[in-house]
Amino acid sequence: MSEPFAATAADVLVVGSLNMDLRIRTPRLPAPGETLTGSGFDTDGGGKGANQAVAAARQGARVAMLGAVGQDAHGAALLAALQADGIDTGAVERIAGMPSGTAAILLMPDGENSIVVIAGANHALTPERVRAQAGRLRQARVVVAQLECPLDAVTEALTIAREAGAITVLNAAPVQPLDDALLGQLDWLVVNEIEAAALAGMPVPGPTEAREVAERLRQRGPRQVLVTLGAEGLVLAGPEGTLALPAPRVQAVDTTGAGDTVVGALAAALAAGRPLREALVRAQAAAALAVTRLGTQSAMPTAAEVDRLVA
Ligand code: ADP
Repeated sequence: MSEPFAATAADVLVVGSLNMDLRIRTPRLPAPGETLTGSGFDTDGGGKGANQAVAAARQGARVAMLGAVGQDAHGAALLAALQADGIDTGAVERIAGMPSGTAAILLMPDGENSIVVIAGANHALTPERVRAQAGRLRQARVVVAQLECPLDAVTEALTIAREAGAITVLNAAPVQPLDDALLGQLDWLVVNEIEAAALAGMPVPGPTEAREVAERLRQRGPRQVLVTLGAEGLVLAGPEGTLALPAPRVQAVDTTGAGDTVVGALAAALAAGRPLREALVRAQAAAALAVTRLGTQSAMPTAAEVDRLVA
């Protein structure tokens, strides 16, 4: 594959997944063999990669996405949704013969949900396809990845980005074992407390342990380790020591995608050259606003909304 000669420089390049979320409201889970009548249906763009791209774009960053969708209607809709947020989708390949990533979500009246995810075209992202976009990776200020695409492709992207001097961010979700060679390529490792516990092999019952686990993970290579703690806020371990920031107190109605909002808004703030603490405060403010609204991408706030909350 040849390298695109006219790649536009992005502030934030997100390497990752795009999924179509199919949400069905149901009174309860059907029993095996049973057909139930649901009370509602809607579709929404999802996938951690696409979510983080939207979060960064809403904060005013020039964002490009690198990933793969199918040549199906969902793929077209996913690209159109990103483009509506001004995101460059020129590096999202459309793969023949594979469905776009899909999440079938059964939503119960108490807010509980059961989800089946099909990776589909997300798993077609290979190191070769990543290398074909090396020009875009080298020009980006911040390169962000997660683990819903194959690890070898993610590793390739972060390695190219790191060599080119970009700020590299890995959100290690869904969590899987990572070797120190990859962790050493990271400026930022971002994990929630469950992922942190799994990676470090120790429980994280509260903020005190979160500091310890962040420090422990930092010793494996990342320059900064950010552990998010839901309503409790976050903990950062970096070269200057550890820092804990409480989350703004809000009335949460839907916390889906809170972590993705933090990652995207953080990437946008870093690309804009904001100081570390300010970047973290803005990322948390963005997530706090997002959890007060229903939806994932549709709930992500703009930079102006974050400005008002942090003022
Ligand atoms: P994930 O979505 O990956 O599980 P968390 O639940 O840790 O991640 O949430 C990520 C961030 O979102 C938190 O660090 C916090 O800033 C914000 N957040 C999540 N839940 C709430 C809440 N109930 N109130 C305020 N902020 C929240």
